[in-house]
Amino acid sequence: MKFATKVIHAGIEPDPSTGAVMTPIFQTSTYAQNAPGDHKGYEYARSKNPTRTALEANLAALENGVDAICFGSGLAAQDAVVKLLKTGDEILAVNDLYGGTYRQLIRVWSQWGLKSRFIDMHDPANVDAAIGPDTRLIWIETPTNPMLNLVDIEAVCAIAKRHGIMVCVDNTFASPYLQNPLDLGADVVLHSATKYLGGHSDVVHGCLIVKDAELGKQLHFIQNASGAVPGPQDCFLVLRGIKTLHLRVQRACENAEKIAHFLASHPKVASVNWPGFSHHPGHAIAAKQMRMFGAMLSFDLKDNTFDSAKRVLSATHLFTLAESLGGVESLIGHPASMTHASIPREERMKVGLTDSLIRLSIGIEDADDLIEDLKKALG
Ligand SMILES: *Cc1c(COP(=O)(O)O)cnc(C)c1O
Repeated sequence: MKFATKVIHAGIEPDPSTGAVMTPIFQTSTYAQNAPGDHKGYEYARSKNPTRTALEANLAALENGVDAICFGSGLAAQDAVVKLLKTGDEILAVNDLYGGTYRQLIRVWSQWGLKSRFIDMHDPANVDAAIGPDTRLIWIETPTNPMLNLVDIEAVCAIAKRHGIMVCVDNTFASPYLQNPLDLGADVVLHSATKYLGGHSDVVHGCLIVKDAELGKQLHFIQNASGAVPGPQDCFLVLRGIKTLHLRVQRACENAEKIAHFLASHPKVASVNWPGFSHHPGHAIAAKQMRMFGAMLSFDLKDNTFDSAKRVLSATHLFTLAESLGGVESLIGHPASMTHASIPREERMKVGLTDSLIRLSIGIEDADDLIEDLKKALG
């Protein structure tokens, strides 16, 4: 089945009891049993819910996996992956990553004796050199947030495999329409479904997709044992969002290309980070592992102060100043004070995350209107 067909049909059957074409929201916490242990596969809704089951089957298909596990947020999904590890184990993560991921590793998991190191992965050889005796998990985000750096998933996975180390790829920025890490050798794919999968900025949700059934079972066990499950209404919203994923992401990428070129030619803009530019250092990798170049971009101002960034951030009308990304509407954000405020300034500066860096999540509005809005704000 091709992608555009999968988003509509994979894992989804008309409801057997009524014929309802759309997966019903099974708003129930428990299920009737005929006799003790004699039931229809559902006992208690933390363990299983039919709306969630349909979404998990759909997600598994979108990432070419065998199983998916859904959570109440992207960070709850991350939490479950880390729970596969033990005290003393080490995580090697890319050094330019989602602020909440960093915060969980440093502020929560370090207290449980899990070590995390953050390294530049633009050259896969750096990963090979950094692997130590306790390294058990490699954490990749690509393109990275907010610098839009690229990591060669296939090359890093090949190195990890030689050392018997698990790889998890946070695929939130790309979405399954643009990139499928399991095909490139990853063991686990993570999505904050809050972003492109949900796509309408109306739900917080996370998921994991795996290609090994046994690993899927372990993660379902953690999901049930720790309990950070999404409600059925939220699963319904993600299922509904996914039906237009390919159309939304395609249009957003087309818009992003036009906006990236507009910004690159603007006299007040110092640099634009967007992997579609042939001079972008990760361009060749992006072309190899992504279907299009994505709808996220960031740019820096020539006047590189927080104040000048603030003026632009407060002056747009169509671009809403807000955290998050991946919705139908365009958003503008200031990573240093918003999404990445939990990362110390000196760590931020090391990866080029300056006080004047502005991040855009491009939506599916008309590109000309979006460009006009930015033109006025920069003026
Ligand atoms: C938003 C986000 C997360 C966290 O997901 P939540 O649903 O907000 O918990 C993780 N990784 C990336 C890349 C994100 O953008």
